[in-house]
Order: sequence, then C-alpha cells, then structure tokens
Amino acid sequence: DVQLSTRVQSIKPSPTLSITARAAELRAAGKDIIGLGAGEPDFDTPEHIKEAAIKAIRDGFTKYTAVDGTAGLKQAVIAKFERDNGLNYAPNQILVSSGGKQSFYNMAQALLNPGDQAIIPAPYWVSYPDMVLLAGAEPVIIPAGLEQGFKITPAQLEAAITPATRLFVINSPSNPTGAAYSRGEMAALGEVLLRHPQVLVATDDMYEHILWTGAPFVNILNACPELYDRTIVLNGVSKAYSMTGWRIGYAGGPAKLIGAMKKIQSQSTSNPASISQAAAQAALEGDQSCVGVMVKAFKERHDFVVETLNAIPGVRCRPSDGTFYAFPNVEGVIEGLDGVEDDLELAERLITDAGVAMVPGTAFGAPGCIRLSFATSMEKLDAALGRFRDFAAR
Ligand code: PLP
Repeated sequence: DVQLSTRVQSIKPSPTLSITARAAELRAAGKDIIGLGAGEPDFDTPEHIKEAAIKAIRDGFTKYTAVDGTAGLKQAVIAKFERDNGLNYAPNQILVSSGGKQSFYNMAQALLNPGDQAIIPAPYWVSYPDMVLLAGAEPVIIPAGLEQGFKITPAQLEAAITPATRLFVINSPSNPTGAAYSRGEMAALGEVLLRHPQVLVATDDMYEHILWTGAPFVNILNACPELYDRTIVLNGVSKAYSMTGWRIGYAGGPAKLIGAMKKIQSQSTSNPASISQAAAQAALEGDQSCVGVMVKAFKERHDFVVETLNAIPGVRCRPSDGTFYAFPNVEGVIEGLDGVEDDLELAERLITDAGVAMVPGTAFGAPGCIRLSFATSMEKLDAALGRFRDFAAR
C-alpha cells in the first residue's frame, strides 16, 4: 500500500470542481441535469483574444518563456494595474502564473510556515483554506453571515489577529457571496491591519470587473495605500475575459515575495503556457468592451435569480454586488424537507432527485447556504429555479 504524505491527507479535493464533474458524469449517463455549479462564465472567449493565440502558434511562439511571464505580458499587467487600480509596479514586482489559483498557491508556499496563521473570512473561496493547509499553516476563519451582508467587521478582524498571524485574505466582490466591501469598509479594515505589521494582506481581485454597485471598484490598497509594502494583489484573466481554460493569473506585490513565488514556480511548473500568455496580453491591451457585454448579461440574470429565489418559501437571498453567483440561505427549505438535514444533503438531493447541480454552502465555510452560478442562459436558470422551487415544496 502506498503511504501518502500527511500534507496531502490534510486537504480535500476542490468541491466546486467535483460537483461540476459529477454533473457532467450524470449527464453523460443520460440524466437531465442543469449545472449551476461551475465557477466560470458561459461566454466564449472573445474573438480578438483567440486570434492572438492563433497568431502566436503560427509565429512559432511555442517555447519556454521567462518563468515569470513574457516581458510583453508583464508590461500589459503593469499598465493594467496603473489604468484600472492606480497601482504602480516595477517588473520585478509582477509574477504571471498558470491561473489565479497558482498565484495564491505560490504565495502561500512562499510566505507561510508551520505554526503560522492565515485569516480567511467566511464564506470563502473553497481553495484558500486548503492551500494554507498545504503550506503547513493554520487557516483562521472569521464567520460573516447573511445578517452582516457576508462581510466581516473591523472588530472581528482585530479579535482574530494574533502574533502568529502572517496573512489576511480579502476577496471582494466575493466568490461565493457576490458581496463587495465599500471603500469605507475597506478603509476600516485597513486601519486595523496598520496596527499589526506582521500581517501580509492578499487582495483577490479576480471579480473586479464583474460589479454593478455603481461605485468604482476599490480594493484594500486603494482604501489604505499605507499597506502597499505588505499587500499582494492577485488577479487574472479567467473571469473578466471568459478565459478559464487558458490558465493565466497574475500578481503584483513586494519584490521580495514575488521573487520567492517566482523561485517556487521555477521549480514546479516553469512559465505559464506561451500561447495563453499571448492571448492574455491581447485581453489586457485590447478593446475592453467585451467585459461590459458580459457584465450586462450577468446583471440581468442576477436580478431574475434573486427575485425568483426570494419568492421561494424558506429561501433568503441577498442581492449580489457583482460576480455571477447568488448565495441564498436555504435553512427554511432544509427544515421543511423530510430526510434532508443540512445543505450537503440538500445539494445531493437536488442533483439526484431534481436534476439541478448547486454547491453546498458548507464547501465555502457557510452551512445553511447554497451557491448557484448564474453564468448560464435565462432559459436554463428559469428551468433550474423551477425545479428547485418544486423540490423545496415537497
Ligand atoms: N480567486 C477566486 C475568488 C476565484 O473564484 C477563482 C476561480 O474560481 C480564482 C481565484 C482562480 O481562478 P483561476 O485559477 O481559474 O484563474
């Protein structure tokens, strides 16, 4: 028998990826399943981005590149940070990786030691705690429920910080809740962090562009520029340009940390795919109107989904500020159903008995909720919510 490492035994497979795989399996077996589990836009990658990749292949741009990304893409990332976020970085402060997930992974590996603590507000993106565990450190979860808009308070943050805290993660707008912190809320969290110089701040801006609050996007560094020397900004092209399969993420931050992350990448995966880098550069430098088209569709679907969900007895859904997720509290539904004790069982029954795939809130550290992605057609959303309503009424 193979003896596995304690490291790998400390984590679980990504629940969102496994729900998506499960839905695909059932569908392949002939079952009628509507998938609202996947965390990716349903749009095709815009044409000009695909063309750039095709050109890269034709031009023979198919070899290793610099580990940290091509000079062209890094310049595009630098220009993007300046244009969209008012942030200035030198090339040695930028690392391009194979997806936002690898950016975070490299960061955790470069920063955390056993015994260190990483503060993660819940509901959280499923991979943060497990990547912290893979680094041997301890995830410290701050719960923020529906009643507080799924956002932590400065007092909660203050109470969670200890001398062992090395990392604080903030993701706004958030996967899974769609909640975005206002500039004032960010500034208040920033004030707490300024009192604790041992803490590095990671802001995951992956959903930056998928936002409809009316206010401009703001991250913690915009609200609290004094944190510049100990903040890393994580972003990528996956969600904004519908490029999840291309696997390009990027980070901007302190040169020492970025250099350490690059070293890890140089000994693990080397550069991200050269062709994908060409495509990502075209995405960042090209016409940005494709982003607005997708956001408009997401907002329309959001309005429909939230209204429909709130009309189902037992469901309470807060409107999202952005992203393509709704994260209703479904405790009322669970209470009313025989043989369904929690959100895990509800999600299981929904997929097997009702033909709708959603991700249980427990996966995001928020039992009693469920995540549904509205990155799918209105038709499918309408049908899926109908199935959910009928199942809930049983
Ligand atoms: N951060 C958040 C909050 C996400 O939801 C995701 C994807 O689901 C990522 C990062 C990573 O994106 P990718 O690795 O596909 O670029």
